Formats: sequence, C-alpha cells, structure tokens
Amino acid sequence: MTKYNISLIPGDGIGPELMKSAKMLLEYMNDKTSVKFNLTEVDAGDYALAKFGKALPDFTLDAIKKSDACLKAPVGESAADVIIVLRRLFDLYANIRPAKSFPNIKSIAENVDLVTVRENTEDVYLGWEFYANTDTVVALRVISEKASRRIAEYAFKTAVMRGKKKKVVSVHKANVLRKSDGLFKNICREVSTKFPQIEYSELYVDACAMNLIRNPESFDVIVTTNLFGDILSDEAAQVVGGLGMGPAGNIGQNFSLFEPVHGAAFDIAGKNIANPSSIFLSIKMMFEWIAEKFRDPLLFTEAIRIETAITSLLKQNYKTIDIGGKLSTSEFTRMLIDFL
Ligand code: ATP
Repeated sequence: MTKYNISLIPGDGIGPELMKSAKMLLEYMNDKTSVKFNLTEVDAGDYALAKFGKALPDFTLDAIKKSDACLKAPVGESAADVIIVLRRLFDLYANIRPAKSFPNIKSIAENVDLVTVRENTEDVYLGWEFYANTDTVVALRVISEKASRRIAEYAFKTAVMRGKKKKVVSVHKANVLRKSDGLFKNICREVSTKFPQIEYSELYVDACAMNLIRNPESFDVIVTTNLFGDILSDEAAQVVGGLGMGPAGNIGQNFSLFEPVHGAAFDIAGKNIANPSSIFLSIKMMFEWIAEKFRDPLLFTEAIRIETAITSLLKQNYKTIDIGGKLSTSEFTRMLIDFL
C-alpha cells in the first residue's frame, strides 16, 4: 500500500482553522480507510515572515519538494510571496477552479457545473512593471505559444475526462489585445481540431462575465489567460453561492498544490465560523490528482465519498453560517467525519 507524502501550509487568518479541519479529515482517512498519508506541516506566509524573516523559508521549500502534493490554506498579506513563487518554482501551469451547485445554498442558478482552466505562469503575473517616466507606469502582459498550447491541451483533456457537456470555450479579448490574445485564441483553435468530440467556441471576456450571471448552466470548461481566469473564477464561485465552497488546484507535470479559492478572511478569523468545505473540496481534488498520477483507484473512491458527504449534509440543511446555516467550523467538520 502506497503512503503519500503531503505537505501542509496552515497559512494565516482563517487558514489554521481550516487546516485543523483538513487534518482531521486526513487523519480519519489514515485511521479508517485504506488510503494512507505522511503529513508534514510547514511554515509559510505572514507567520513565517514574522518568525523567520521570509514568507517562504528555504527549509519550507525543501520539505515541500520532498512531498507528492501540497495542501495550502490561505495566506495573508504575503500571499504573493508564497503562491506566486511556488507556482513558478514548481511550474504549476494550470489553475483549475471548479464551480458547482450544491443543494440548499442560495445562489442565482441551480444546475451549474463548470470548471475554469486558467493559465498560471505568465500574463501580467510576471510582475514586469516599469516607470516609463515619473508619473506613468507600464505593465507588460506576456502570452507565449508554449504556455497557451499547454493550457489549451489541458482544458480539452479536462472536458474529455469530465465527460459532461463536452464543451470548451476559450475566453480572451483578442479584439483589443490583438497580438497577445490573438495568439492565445489561435492556439486554442488549433488545439480544438485535435478534439473533434468536444464542442469548441470563443467568447470575449466581457461577454463571458455577463453570461456567467445570465446563463451559468451553459458552461462546461472555460480556458483563459491568467488575469481573466482569476477574475472569472471568483465570479463563478459567487454564482454558486460563495467563496466558502470554492476549491482550486495548481497543477504541474510532477507536483501539484491544492488550496481554497478564497483569501485569509481576517474579518472572521479565530471565530470558528469559517466554512471548511473549500478545503475539504480541495482535498477531494488532491485525491483525484494523486489517483490519476499514481494510478490508485482507491483515492478516486475516497474523493467521491468526500463530495457525497458534503452534498448529503447540505441536503439535510447542515450548513455553516456563510451559506445560511448555524454550524461552526468544528461542528460541520465533526458531522462530516461522523457521516463518512
Ligand atoms: P484576498 O485578497 O486574499 O483574495 P479578500 O480579503 O479579498 O482576500 P477573502 O479573504 O477571499 O477576500 O474573502 C472575502 C470574504 O468572504 C471574507 O471577508 C469572508 O467574510 C468571506 N469568506 C471567505 N472565505 C470564507 C470561508 N471559508 N467561510 C466563510 N466566509 C468566507
């Protein structure tokens, strides 16, 4: 039986509370199921910056390098110094953000099941900004053929694997950003020809933002560049009822990192009211990735069980405060583990 090495970043704000819930779920898996993990907690974020003078200390990086995957809770002010560096160092080129309707959550649509596949390595996130003169700043937006092809292929494979509506829409602003987004759009078109079983279409980013509100059920896989993906995936999370239900995966060739879509939410930190579903669903995504990478179907089974448990609790109206319920973080966590 394989024992997988998982590094854990507890982060800041509500991060440590969510990580406590996540560890309870992973320890339940270790104790009561056939899937096994070595869990290693590492320091990163505001806490690490204050204690060691670096948001991502070298010993943390060394520990993460030794793991098969990383589960990260939200980090506070130093978020960019942690996640953007990790994405670059491990070449985590695909940012996957599912947005799915769950029962009994107030939302503007009921049957949403979409995933945003966001390019994760370039665009304005390279941070190449310069003063052109004393009062004008220029920010460079980098779009390459290689990164566009890699993310387009990932998106089409995702549509095939999901086996749902079998649709990919590439989202861009090629009417204004003619060269950069023109390149992205053309590569998506080219890749689409290799997947005749998948319906391919294109949308300008403004039209996509509008349609995500007007007709979110129509989407399956959205593939887009880094900044547009950041914005659209937060919008999609809100369409299905809020950030507390939103997981994300940062996927690389040999290593991946999973995290809630939301930030450290300092306004509710320490109150035991954060919704832990975002980190539970991140664990579910992590299990699916490990299952596929290490060809271990047991992990697929446990991934399905986690989502089924969350859905069943919500059906019975067991919910945290952010989605209209009364349960605390620890109460919902306990109920989930008891259900499993
Ligand atoms: P960032 O800039 O890092 O994305 P932010 O301050 O813009 O962070 P978030 O921390 O992502 O925003 O969250 C926005 C609000 O949503 C929070 O202030 C909080 O009230 C709510 N929220 C976020 N995550 C959760 C959660 N897991 N459970 C309950 N409420 C949440």
